Formats: sequence, C-alpha cells, structure tokens
Amino acid sequence: MDVFKKDIKNYGLGICAGLVFCFILDRIFGTCCPLRIIAGYPCPGCGALRSVKCFLSGDILGFWNYYPLMPLIYIYVAFFVIFRYIIKRFNAKIFMTLIVCLILASLGVYAYRMVKYYPNKEPMVYTENNFLNKIRGY
Ligand SMILES: [Zn+2]
Repeated sequence: MDVFKKDIKNYGLGICAGLVFCFILDRIFGTCCPLRIIAGYPCPGCGALRSVKCFLSGDILGFWNYYPLMPLIYIYVAFFVIFRYIIKRFNAKIFMTLIVCLILASLGVYAYRMVKYYPNKEPMVYTENNFLNKIRGY
C-alpha cells in the first residue's frame, strides 16, 4: 500500500478529531489553547494558528510576530513530505531528532517571549476569563 494512503488510514481520524476538537474549543472559549483556557497563561505554541492565518493572508510581519519559529516548522513539514511521500527515503530517527530540536527551540523562544513581552503583547497575554478564575469566583 502506498505510504500516503497508509498514513491517512493510520493517522487521518486522529488528525481530524484533533482539528474538530480545536475548532470546538475555539468556538466555545475563543482559543484552542488548553493552558490559556484553564489557567489563562500562554503556552509555547500560542500564536501558531494566528501565524498561519497571517501567512495565508500575506501578512509576513504578523506571521513572524505571532510565532517566530513558524518558518522552521514549514521547512520541516516540506522536508517531511518530500522525504516521506515523494522520494520515499524517510529516516524516522532523523525526523524525530529534528522534532525534539524544534520542541527545545520552542521552549527557548517561549522563555524569551515570556520575559520580553508578557503580559503586554499578543499572543503573550494573560486571559482573565479562564477556568481557574471562574472556580475562584473572579
Ligand atoms: Zn497556547
């Protein structure tokens, strides 16, 4: 079976369920970020979706400002697709190592943005309408 069809069969339902879950959270809470919904604080991935929206609308400054690592993620996805589906010489160990590097870079950028921009600049802002505040009655 073709690798792409196999991946769709194995992961397609999970990816679709995740997207639907994110869409529902966004409709209910105005964000799909679990940390922001529960505690009000931005997470290391906050701004990524807005960055994609900016990219699709041609707003390169917004694309960069909302999530500075997004260009690296696009490059990663492009290489993933090329190596896995087009030239079919996929090395999972290399791509897992790159994912770990991206996660570590994301944590570093998050720490930098929390120190430099929190809580005054989107997406590094505090959301007062969060679950913990509701429980505490604020
Ligand atoms: Zn987040």
